[in-house]
Amino acid sequence: MSYKVAFTDFDLQFVSMHDEIMQAIQAVLVKGDLILRSPVADFESSLADFIGVRYAVGVSNCSDALRLALLACGVEPGDEVITVAHTFVATVAAIVQIGGVPVLVDVGDDYNMDLETLEAAITSRTKAIIPVHLNGRMCDMARLLEIACRHGLLIIEDAAQALGSKFAGRAAGSIGLAGCFSFFPGKILGAIGDAGAVVTNDERLASKLRLLRDHGRASRCEISSWGYNCRLDALQAAVLSVKFKHVTEWIAYRRLLASRYHTGLRELREIMLPHPPAEDSKYFDVYQSYVIRASDQRGLSAFLQERGIEALIYWSRPLHRQTALGLTHFRLPKTEALSKLVLSLPLHVNLTLEQVDYVIKNLREFYSTRSE
Ligand SMILES: *Cc1c(COP(=O)(O)O)cnc(C)c1O
Repeated sequence: MSYKVAFTDFDLQFVSMHDEIMQAIQAVLVKGDLILRSPVADFESSLADFIGVRYAVGVSNCSDALRLALLACGVEPGDEVITVAHTFVATVAAIVQIGGVPVLVDVGDDYNMDLETLEAAITSRTKAIIPVHLNGRMCDMARLLEIACRHGLLIIEDAAQALGSKFAGRAAGSIGLAGCFSFFPGKILGAIGDAGAVVTNDERLASKLRLLRDHGRASRCEISSWGYNCRLDALQAAVLSVKFKHVTEWIAYRRLLASRYHTGLRELREIMLPHPPAEDSKYFDVYQSYVIRASDQRGLSAFLQERGIEALIYWSRPLHRQTALGLTHFRLPKTEALSKLVLSLPLHVNLTLEQVDYVIKNLREFYSTRSE
């Protein structure tokens, strides 16, 4: 069906940048720079500058970024890695794939790791923590760093949803030993397929990551470790470099849309809104998603659907309730409660203010008809 307000803008983004994107693709093809080389190196250096880190290593996607980061940081089979269940499955899958043991903790009101319950989950086998900066808002990294330092634990940031987001002036991905990013089309900076990166300030870690992503090849003749093929595709890198020029302006627009939602919806007592963007806040949120909590999640989403608005329910069954994954021993009451309430409203850079107002109007209507 064609929506009045669609959840994604992949088609519109392409149309609005058609010439630039096609020229960038053509330039790569004409030179024959198909694997790594300058398209990838150029994108890596823009990304490192933007985040304020020394190194960025382009990889195939963020799922691989997380897996390679865990390996490069020295997380070994049997090591426990603490993360959350209220995340995309890839965060936890990366831990399992390297032979690690995922330990899941609950989340707080801002959907990020509940640092109150984190310490109780630390054991003598804990090696690392993966905070997930969900919906474009960072975890409280000051507190997390303090806990991690006290217990001698590594931090690997899952910053897939937080490109450009900041905590106390420091960018997502730049605080832990490594930060992992996704350029899946629906992310803040989206490729025309899959793409990702790991960023770090640690030179040795960056070299290890470069080896791991490319079969362990140190040069044409020397293989210095086992590795994988997890390279960032050169065509994707070239397209990402084109889009990167707009990222700051896009983030500002996402914040504007979030404020518009906030102003239009804050009086509705039936729903809970995310934090509004505030200039003087410790948190600089980038609104990868605009997630509200509503008591009749399914009814509301169906009502909006009828009005041509594509609002989506993500993760209505949390990972520790997915019996196939073998994580059912965790008890995470806040995660379970949230998963029955969350609804993601459309928010992307091709959304107009009029479309946001239309969503607001329909949300109000839903609640006014029900309270009669
Ligand atoms: C999108 C996402 C990933 C996975 O990214 P891919 O690039 O699709 O592999 C991991 N973690 C979180 C929190 C995500 O949102």
